[in-house]
Amino acid sequence: MTAKQRKVQNAGWYRFNIGALECTTIWDGYIHHGYEGLFPNADPAELARLKQEYRLPKGEFFPMDLNPVVVNTGDRLILIDAGMGRTSQLFGDTMGHTVDNMRASGIEPDEIDMVLMTHLHPDHSFGLIHPDGTAVYRNADLYVTKADWEEWTDEASLKRNDFRAPWTEGTLAAVAPYRDRVKLFDPGDTILPVVSTMSGAGHSLGQCAYIFESEGEKVVFTGDVAHHAVFDPIHPEWFFHNDYDSDPQMGADAKAAIFARVVDENIRYHGYHFPYPGIGDLERVADGTYRFHGDAVTPRLGYSVD
Ligand SMILES: [Zn+2]
Repeated sequence: MTAKQRKVQNAGWYRFNIGALECTTIWDGYIHHGYEGLFPNADPAELARLKQEYRLPKGEFFPMDLNPVVVNTGDRLILIDAGMGRTSQLFGDTMGHTVDNMRASGIEPDEIDMVLMTHLHPDHSFGLIHPDGTAVYRNADLYVTKADWEEWTDEASLKRNDFRAPWTEGTLAAVAPYRDRVKLFDPGDTILPVVSTMSGAGHSLGQCAYIFESEGEKVVFTGDVAHHAVFDPIHPEWFFHNDYDSDPQMGADAKAAIFARVVDENIRYHGYHFPYPGIGDLERVADGTYRFHGDAVTPRLGYSVD
């Protein structure tokens, strides 16, 4: 007898609760990302040691997941970041699954009331539109920090000879159908009674983290404050990619500040680029550095030992 191999994985969505909030990670795909240049001020021997100790992919590349999240507050459906979508293969062809996975999770894009952007880089913003340029989230307001809006919708960048030209061109197209419902704010502002914000500026000038609180439990959606679940917690002082960080030192300082607050206030941590589904807990160890413990994916929902 022969048995046909299916060659497909289960749908990329995963649900978890924070108090009365129902959160759903919606996997957009992954970037086939090189280690080369990833942490430009890292000691290469230390990076190699950690690759071995944590059994990370041994070669030159690793998969960097993209994990947008939908939060159902009871009266609103809020999407945090929109994935890479299918308008561009600037970062490869391994992304663009957000809409399919959202539908598989039981959520229709038309039901989304608000989209909160951590920042406007391609792998977060390009998924706001379909390949024909129309809005994916036709009924949603779009929340962006003023600083990120200024940095990444600046038409002067279109004339540059670096990555900022195509990134800005794509972001201008992605936000175009939302222009009459863009809500600009400053990091630190409160979006809703259950949603506060905190600056994570550095990776982009307006990078923002969103803290949701319900029934005494908190979670922070950090976007690109950190990119790797092993390297960043152990070495918060490492910069991410000098080319792509608007201000690498500012980004490292913001990362350290957010890690400290997360531990001090017992906040659950979500890393957009951490391994799917990106939710877990940070621990501070004796030397003052951190470790990330990602939740194990399970079909159980809402189990509590309390
Ligand atoms: Zn990113």
